[in-house]
Amino acid sequence: MTANTVINAAYEQVQKRNSGELEFLQAVKEVLDSLGPVLEKHPEYVDAKIIDRIVEPERQIMFRVPWQDDKGNVQINRGFRFEFNSALGPYKGGLRFHPTVTASILKFLGFEQIFKNALTTLPMGGGKGGSDFDPKGKSDNEVMRFCQSFMTELCRHIGPDTDVPAGDIGVGGREIGFMFGQYKRLRNEFTGVLTGKALNWGGSLIRTEATGYGCVYLAEEMLKTRNESFEGKICAVSGSGNVAQYTVEKLNQLGAKAVSLSDSSGSIYDPDGIDAEKLAFVLELKNIRRGRIKEYADKFGVEYRQGKRPWDIKCDCAFPSATQNEIDGEDAKTLLKNGCTLVAEGANMPSTPEAVEQFLAQKILYGPGKAANAGGVATSGLEMSQNSLRLSWTREEVDERLHNIMIAVHQQSYDAAEEYGQPGNLVMGANIAGFTKVADAMLDQGLV
Ligand code: NDP
Repeated sequence: MTANTVINAAYEQVQKRNSGELEFLQAVKEVLDSLGPVLEKHPEYVDAKIIDRIVEPERQIMFRVPWQDDKGNVQINRGFRFEFNSALGPYKGGLRFHPTVTASILKFLGFEQIFKNALTTLPMGGGKGGSDFDPKGKSDNEVMRFCQSFMTELCRHIGPDTDVPAGDIGVGGREIGFMFGQYKRLRNEFTGVLTGKALNWGGSLIRTEATGYGCVYLAEEMLKTRNESFEGKICAVSGSGNVAQYTVEKLNQLGAKAVSLSDSSGSIYDPDGIDAEKLAFVLELKNIRRGRIKEYADKFGVEYRQGKRPWDIKCDCAFPSATQNEIDGEDAKTLLKNGCTLVAEGANMPSTPEAVEQFLAQKILYGPGKAANAGGVATSGLEMSQNSLRLSWTREEVDERLHNIMIAVHQQSYDAAEEYGQPGNLVMGANIAGFTKVADAMLDQGLV
């Protein structure tokens, strides 16, 4: 059987077993499309059916989450955890609370997480979970009651050596705190079972900043391959949550100018740049007052673009940092037409396959989410190490480790792309470098 026959048969089976799960199928297809040359070179992966095994989660958990709102009404949400692959370490990956959450979304995220975690060089398997609960517009007490109910079930399935969840969309420090408190109460253990904790009870410095900083560090490595730097580059950023905020901060530090932010209602365009003072306003707006990005436009007198994404803004570099499939084929065309030469994905799978195809065809610098946003989970890994050591590293120490990890993520992806005959193609490089590590560990561990 040729490698392509193996891949096509495996993908057909995935389609049959997961019919209608479009995001999951999209993520699987992207990885499998990269693996032909790997299977040609490693028939042992074919014999051991690594492809058929890796696309099937080791365990999937789905549960009811009942809670009471402030008016005393009973509410029911759905909770999930997909424990995808533990070949390299305990399952690791975030929890997402958003009304759009489905099994398909979490399976795509959990599947990508396997390869992303492998790229960090840290001992972490892949998983993802969450709920269709919407924290927006809920009181702190409602969020607490929901988190406590969610953890009452989840705590049976996780643990510091089994599965260590973190935050994602809709899950920040507040939610991690409520869930950690409930885990501790139910299990009578103070342990590193979640990452993204507050600094005064086991969190790591730089974890909050890590995904955004890491994405810019990776982009900097990409620029270096063309002897360029961020100095003077105009950058379009989407989202205005955790990843977007610290992407803007690091871009400012490296001499670039970030000119946009967005949320699910619209985007702002600030041609003068979102400087440190304006960014402080965004942090207060989004993390404390939990308001809408439109208030930025009102406050600073810049353009608010109702219902629009930032991709028609002229820029040198784009940092999609909101959600999946937020750059479609048309957006990609517009970005390229306006001279954009670098796209680094802070969000997971923000570019549709039609967009990715154009970025690769035009040979711009394109850093896929698996590589570009690996800094978040990498620093979660560093938080786990500190918890195990019962030590806290300094800000500089964690930042330096994060920076070195992102350099390594880029190097491995770049080298794998070159080795397999597609120099500069980091989609292929990241998929292959991540996959081979996990596949080798699966071979070593036998048929499990
Ligand atoms: P936050 O919840 O802090 O912020 C998410 C931002 O994206 C908000 O501005 C939100 O706007 C916007 N957004 C969410 N859903 C949509 C949508 N359907 N359409 C348009 N805008 C939307 O999340 P993070 O910043 O943590 O996560 C952003 C992305 O980065 C996600 O893809 C996540 O998986 C990825 N990521 C995050 C990591 C982390 O460490 N936090 C690590 C690796 C990847 P609104 O408030 O209106 O919903």
